[in-house]
Amino acid sequence: MSDTASPSVDVSQFQYVRKGFGLKAEVEQTLAADYSGQLVDLLRANGYTLAAGGMTVRLAKEFGFCYGVERAVDYAYQTRLKFPDRRIFLAGEIIHNPHVNAKLREMGVIFLGPTANGFDYSEVRAEDVVILPAFGVTHHDFETLRALGCVVVDTTCGSVLNVWKRVEVYARDGYTSLIHGKYYHEETRATASQVRKKDPDGHYLVVRDMDEAELVMDYIEAKAGAPLRPGRSALTRASFLERFADRMSDGFDPDRHLDRVGVANQTTMLARESLAIGAAVGEAMERAYGADHKSAHFRTFDTICSATQDRQDAVLDMLEEPLDLMVVVGGYNSSNTISLAALCAEKVRTYHIADPDEIDVAGNRVRFREIGAHHHEGEAEGWLPLTGDVRVGITAGASTPNNKIGEAVARLFATRGVDPGTLVTGEG
Ligand code: SF4
Repeated sequence: MSDTASPSVDVSQFQYVRKGFGLKAEVEQTLAADYSGQLVDLLRANGYTLAAGGMTVRLAKEFGFCYGVERAVDYAYQTRLKFPDRRIFLAGEIIHNPHVNAKLREMGVIFLGPTANGFDYSEVRAEDVVILPAFGVTHHDFETLRALGCVVVDTTCGSVLNVWKRVEVYARDGYTSLIHGKYYHEETRATASQVRKKDPDGHYLVVRDMDEAELVMDYIEAKAGAPLRPGRSALTRASFLERFADRMSDGFDPDRHLDRVGVANQTTMLARESLAIGAAVGEAMERAYGADHKSAHFRTFDTICSATQDRQDAVLDMLEEPLDLMVVVGGYNSSNTISLAALCAEKVRTYHIADPDEIDVAGNRVRFREIGAHHHEGEAEGWLPLTGDVRVGITAGASTPNNKIGEAVARLFATRGVDPGTLVTGEG
């Protein structure tokens, strides 16, 4: 397969495109019209702060679209322009933002639904085009598309590819990949699939959080006959297999496949938790078998992407200042948005909203995703104080465009009776 593409080359000469079609300049204006935000520009120009009507809104210094998302959306627009007459499919969602996905649907892009193994390509023909999202797809999906012979526009983020390489190396060297991630998330499914890309005996196990990592640590220590930490007990082999049934490789056996462990993570998890898990599993290995064994049987590598890290660091910086509440804007299935909301909720009342429409200006109500709850949505009345001084912080996940952040800011001010138009013109 070719790894290059040029708009001047007949498309039938290549099937796999990773670097766009050289149409960046041609789609730039459309992208700006669809996703840029005047209020966000104004916030930036004003030191990330806007104040009017007794309300101060502070925007985190790193927020919204990351480099991987910008590239994926740009390539999707380029693909539409390049193939105006072809059917264009998308494996899942380009990114986890309802507004961006809706725009692609308006452009005629057809979204492929999930199957147990990946996505459903039964409608795709050789003359069609399939876009792969920023999170990537499983190795199985990729081979399916290769066999179909269609044009594949791969927008998998380079930071995700770095995790794949790490996991591939673990498998090559006989290490089981212990992946800190959400087993159902596209990125983690794609990453996990890489363990078998070159090594049919490769294995993985996905842990959602420190609680699940602790179960793995207990098992390693119990297997070695080491005394468990106070208050801990280890799962039996059968209960371990049952507990992790939907988040481990076929044929995974905790008695054999926790001997050599390499830790990696989904790029958008809470960085702090990923690092803690890596360190704790290493310590458990040392408690179980000693330091020499650990150095030969344990590896860890921080694969949180820099954009995720920067957004988490920036919101932590902002939370150093007193705030009355936080608004976090991003899709309810956006992992990095969920991580941001979890960080904020530790310090201040936090509302994770998928879209500015969740803010009901007239009723002073908000619909939001409950922090820490699995897809549980709540609603709050009188959530924004209408009198007195109030300080609101705002940030957004890596898949949230600036216009949506700006709309959320506008609705906040409108709830306080400030006409958002006066903010942009500087009359507020
Ligand atoms: S969040 Fe990180 S890994 Fe995901 S698309 Fe953005 S830059 Fe890439």
